[in-house]
Amino acid sequence: MTNPLGSQQRPLRAAMIGSGPSGFYAAENLLHTKDMQVQVDMFEKLPAPFGLVRYGVAPDHPKIKNVTKIYEKVAEQKGFQFLGNVEVGRNISVDELRQFYDVIIFATGAEKDRKLGILGEDLPGCHTATEFVGWYNGHPDFREEIFDLSQPIVAIIGQGNVALDVARILGKSVDELKNTDIARHALEALAESKVKEIHIFGRRGPAQAAFTPVEIREFAEFADCNCIVKPQDLELNESSRKELEDPDNAVRKKNYEILLQLSQKKHEPKKRQIIFHFLKSPVEICGAKHLDKIIFEKNILVGNPGEQKARGSGEREEIRCDLLFKSVGYRGIPIKGLPFHDQWGIIPNQHGRVADSEQIYSGLYAVGWIKRGPTGVIGTNKPDAEETVKMIMEDLPHLRPCKTPDTEALKKLLQRYEIRVVSFADWKKIDAAEIERGKESGKPREKFVKVSGMLGAI
Ligand code: FAD
Ligand code: NAP
Repeated sequence: MTNPLGSQQRPLRAAMIGSGPSGFYAAENLLHTKDMQVQVDMFEKLPAPFGLVRYGVAPDHPKIKNVTKIYEKVAEQKGFQFLGNVEVGRNISVDELRQFYDVIIFATGAEKDRKLGILGEDLPGCHTATEFVGWYNGHPDFREEIFDLSQPIVAIIGQGNVALDVARILGKSVDELKNTDIARHALEALAESKVKEIHIFGRRGPAQAAFTPVEIREFAEFADCNCIVKPQDLELNESSRKELEDPDNAVRKKNYEILLQLSQKKHEPKKRQIIFHFLKSPVEICGAKHLDKIIFEKNILVGNPGEQKARGSGEREEIRCDLLFKSVGYRGIPIKGLPFHDQWGIIPNQHGRVADSEQIYSGLYAVGWIKRGPTGVIGTNKPDAEETVKMIMEDLPHLRPCKTPDTEALKKLLQRYEIRVVSFADWKKIDAAEIERGKESGKPREKFVKVSGMLGAI
């Protein structure tokens, strides 16, 4: 009789694809499942782990990055291996992985941006928040991006926390950023910035803004940048007033109170201004060869409290600007061999089991942003991971064991493909080298911004 999966003799073999928060929480959960022996091999396409904690969270929010200490503890556990510098779907296929693992869990995040779907959005001068965030955080894929910061007026479309990150990095002085882990190339470019006005546009009103209180509160405190909120923009319709009275809407109420305080603030002249605009949707981005203006339509809100949508009023206005960041949310990237929900930009799934309208894909699971879409903070991925692991445990008796339960055999295959697999011990060498490099400029680390640099440090 064969040993059951999860037994001492035959541990459950799980491949975790992606090393962001959701991958680590799911790994932790699997390794802690009572009376279960599990081997988790975590694949990451970059040599460095931690996903958006390293490459998304803003450099001026260092405390948030401390969560990696928890992930390091997971990585130290028996039954865990990190296989960095391996991109699943490119360096090795999902089918090939199935030979070595009983279950494969996709924790690949949402790495692309949503489109606005309007004329001119791909003109030179139009960028995505994804590109800018990747660039200032030293992500190797975005190292070569160029943003023309010699322009005085910048527009940001979207009013989520990512839009606020972008505005903060553009609005802050170099002194406020120089002791963070911001990439050196970004700090140098920002030091030359001529940006004077940063306009942030929301399609709905101040009571519906997607950012959160802690993040908007910071906008009162910049050394050389004022935050402008016009009092007349804070007038609310009846439904919005009702929304803010709803006890379930405490976050938005707090946002609104902070916006009110910002609108009443008296300002000393400063080098830069961040200006909030509400109820405006971009309808066209214009320019012959380069962005030179954006046409907006003013909106009214329609619908019941809690369900209000922006509807164009027909009234238009335009803003002249040469630099635009679109920050209207993220979407996942399809992986060969897996179904993909193109409209939502996720792997279709039922509570984490990969499934489309035809079938449930036995042994394949999703977790985090690629499972539920690009919403929620780091901690949101914890209960999400618990749900996916629960599905795995329910499916356990019906899973087909893999043919080759052997990580060394898999590594040999990767070696044959000439892939230099980066272990967690290797990563710790990269980590130590980055911390060392940061010392001379008073930074917590100076990231390697090229894969070759990371591999060279091992
Ligand atoms: P990710 O963190 O994106 O991790 C996915 C990982 O999978 C990446 O490492 C990627 O390289 C890897 N990968 C992708 N495809 C493959 C493949 N084919 N093979 C191998 N590896 C692959 N939340 C907060 O609580 N506080 C913040 O301050 C905060 N700031 C944020 C700033 C930005 C700009 C963004 C976009 C989000 C921020 N969030 C913040 C939200 C938080 O980062 C997410 O909730 C969280 O990172 C989602 O985790 P994830 O594991 O699903 O995806
Ligand atoms: P988000 O919170 O979903 O915000 C997206 C913004 O884009 C919203 O203002 C949305 O408006 C707007 N939008 C969407 N489509 C649009 C369109 N076609 N035209 C105009 N505007 C449009 O997304 P995000 O900012 O990318 O953040 C993703 C997640 O990461 C969030 O959960 C966020 O809280 C989290 N995060 C957290 C932190 C932090 O904690 N410090 C930092 C960064 C990110 P509507 O509301 O009208 O749809």
